[in-house]
Amino acid sequence: MEPEVLQNPPWYIEPKEGESISHYFGRFRRHEAVCVSSPGTLSKAVGIGPVLARWEKFRFNPFPSQKELEAIGKLIGLDADRIAQMLPSKGEKMKLEPIRLCAVCYAEQAYHRLEWQFQSTVGCDRHKLRLLSECPFCKERFAIPALWEQGECNKCHTPFRSMKKRQKAY
Ligand SMILES: [Zn+2]
Ligand SMILES: [Zn+2]
Repeated sequence: MEPEVLQNPPWYIEPKEGESISHYFGRFRRHEAVCVSSPGTLSKAVGIGPVLARWEKFRFNPFPSQKELEAIGKLIGLDADRIAQMLPSKGEKMKLEPIRLCAVCYAEQAYHRLEWQFQSTVGCDRHKLRLLSECPFCKERFAIPALWEQGECNKCHTPFRSMKKRQKAY
């Protein structure tokens, strides 16, 4: 018998280095909508919709179980371990609000980094800049990363990458 070749499902997308689960699932859902005729069916099928909705807001209480990670992983074509990398480690306290951003990082690679929501994170270590916690132009808070489709402020539509001029050193 031929060994079974593991193939990614057509809706598979690769997580990026340090990407937050909220941002990843936002991309996943938009991608799923392109390749599955009725969007949302995948998550409905395994009954993980409500779980994902919590995770996208960085609510990890109760903490995701191995069983949940495996169920979701099977569905989207990722190892449970790989999903766990998009989650905080168990002791790490999350800041649910405000959603934060290093615009310089975002200009380099357009996605929300999980570590920006750690309570212990004071700024961007790579750029030695404080994180933005609202649009520096109109003061609107950032949407949850699952909704960062255009990468811009919801209200004044300033692109996130243009906000780097307003970031302060720390
Ligand atoms: Zn940065
Ligand atoms: Zn704005």
